[in-house]
Amino acid sequence: MKLTDHVTSIKGVGAKAAALLAKMQIETVGDLLMNLPMRYADLSMPKSIIEMEESDTGAVKARVVKPPRWIKRAGKMSIFSFEVSDMTEVMSITIFNMPYSFTKFKVGEEYVFEGRVRVFRNQVQMQNPNVYKPGDNGIIPYYHLTAGISQASMRKFIGNALDEAEWDVDDLSRGFMRKYGILPKEQEFFAIHRPADMSDAEAAKRSIILRELLLYAKITDLLSSGGVAEKISGGKKLVSEFIGKLPFTPTGAQKRAMEEIAADIAKTEPMNRLLQGDVGSGKTVVALFAMYAAAKAGKLSILMAPTQILCEQHYENAKKLLPEMGVYMLSGSSTKKERDLLREKLISGEVRILIGTHALLYGIMDGLKAAVIITDEQHRFGVAQRAALAGGGMDGVHTLIMSATPIPRTLALILYNKATVSILDELPKGRQKIKTHIVSQAKRADMYRFIKEHIAMGEQAYAVCPLIEDNPDINAKSAVSLMEDVVGLIPETELLHGLTPNKAEIMQRFKNGETKMLVSTTVVEVGVDVPNATIMVIENAERFGLAQLHQLRGRVGRGNKESFCFLVSGGKTAERLKIIRDSTDGFYIAEKDLEMRGSGDLIGQRQSGKDALCAADLIRDAELLQLATKMLEDGEFASDAAFIEKEAREKISSGEFGVVLN
Ligand code: ADP
Ligand code: MG
Repeated sequence: MKLTDHVTSIKGVGAKAAALLAKMQIETVGDLLMNLPMRYADLSMPKSIIEMEESDTGAVKARVVKPPRWIKRAGKMSIFSFEVSDMTEVMSITIFNMPYSFTKFKVGEEYVFEGRVRVFRNQVQMQNPNVYKPGDNGIIPYYHLTAGISQASMRKFIGNALDEAEWDVDDLSRGFMRKYGILPKEQEFFAIHRPADMSDAEAAKRSIILRELLLYAKITDLLSSGGVAEKISGGKKLVSEFIGKLPFTPTGAQKRAMEEIAADIAKTEPMNRLLQGDVGSGKTVVALFAMYAAAKAGKLSILMAPTQILCEQHYENAKKLLPEMGVYMLSGSSTKKERDLLREKLISGEVRILIGTHALLYGIMDGLKAAVIITDEQHRFGVAQRAALAGGGMDGVHTLIMSATPIPRTLALILYNKATVSILDELPKGRQKIKTHIVSQAKRADMYRFIKEHIAMGEQAYAVCPLIEDNPDINAKSAVSLMEDVVGLIPETELLHGLTPNKAEIMQRFKNGETKMLVSTTVVEVGVDVPNATIMVIENAERFGLAQLHQLRGRVGRGNKESFCFLVSGGKTAERLKIIRDSTDGFYIAEKDLEMRGSGDLIGQRQSGKDALCAADLIRDAELLQLATKMLEDGEFASDAAFIEKEAREKISSGEFGVVLN
């Protein structure tokens, strides 16, 4: 059985299972093997109850000492609990919604319980632990699943695939692999899916990640701009001219960034610049300067935004600021007719400033060339996508990447292939510090009354939820249910989420101030700018990442009124929320985020075997990425580098390469 064979050639995988796996984008044996464990249960070294501390995870081998008793049994809801002991201490086990296992746990029987521990009033507890027979030992992998496939069947499928697969001979040389700790493919996959111990799994994980990053580094290198770009002259004079059009005085940092860009684009060497600035630092006008400069020189520039809402916002701004300079827009909701018309205008040269979403990637630029390409919030796009935007290759294109993710400069150099960095380290004048509070569920009603009062004074508010609709498996507030709760109290509320039609109209009404409150999902996360909005509520804030919380909070505090951010938290106040409450410094928060990610999951969240980066996380694995770039320059192994380049070129031409930096 080859790695490229269809999954149905694996013993035990029939047409039905194959259809379910296809939903996870798993089609071949190789795809299945790239469904890497998201974590392991390590039963090889059970811990004693007495050594378990709050939030520890681990396995405990213990006997049932008090039989199960019902705590709740009503309709679909059931809870029972029992006590176990390993002679060091007693631990209570609570099982939710599995009534059929009530009779399974008998006093005197021994099991291994694996999961996360809570310590409540000095009592060690586990909720819904994984339960194994005492004879089970070793390391048990846990996989991403899809409805209809259980952990047990996923383990069986992958186990059978491992046993039956024929492994290709590695194309990398033994010497290269040994020097940098890359394992042969076969060993890699056995160790990741069936590790003998945790260090085995770690070594395999490092190896898989390093292979991905070698390819990533090469692809980034191949796709980045080389060649000869068109000179766009004007320099400082052009900057002053542009500043004269602005309705405000730019910050010193904005002016500096514009001048740096002006100097870059005046050369024939393509600009490769990263514009970093915390939320609200005013990156957009800096980008518009580059577009203005290009348009004045009669050249085309493109700005790609990650969402429709943001695209329209940029378009409105550009049209207002630069009337009669050939400003056009293309988004997912543009009709075929509009698209065809735009294509004609692109060909005739009438379009100077083009703003769009992902819709720009599908052929509108075929055979055409932009002089300047700007991507907003770059972490949403991949290198290959930028190349599509350029109409094929990045040769001779000036690029500007804007990012609100404040990553350290050294890391930025690697991630963005030696880009020079401009930093907006100054917020526009008159910005208010945002007052951030952590709000318990018990105080939610008070909070919404507070919001109502502020709305009565003419202000506006956002409320962001982690879910669109209620989900029985996820205990979190959904936007749909919050909308029902809130609309009685604040009638001028609208709902906005990924599936809402007419997102732009809803956003427009919010901008105009017709709508006072917007209940939404994270669609408002990136870039949305409504200065009159002063309150941001984040429901189940514990479910969001630090960087995301910081981004969300950045939607308020944009005008000159006092602004608030309320982090509504389900359970005990997490340390993470305190970090957000106590700091508004994006760099500090990003560093904390990095620390926490580093210790967190074993393997990245990305599930698709089709992405070039499946196991790697560019931020978490920054050091390995740095190593990968060095490896490609290792003179001793030029033939390995050449092989990786060949593979990278194949990936690029197959067009299947997509990278998302999150
Ligand atoms: P971000 O860096 O988060 O993308 P934006 O470019 O969206 O920030 O700018 C945030 C808001 O601040 C916008 O309303 C913009 O018009 C405004 N703004 C930008 N620069 C200045 C400035 N120097 N003075 C006052 N307001 C500014
Ligand atoms: Mg922005």
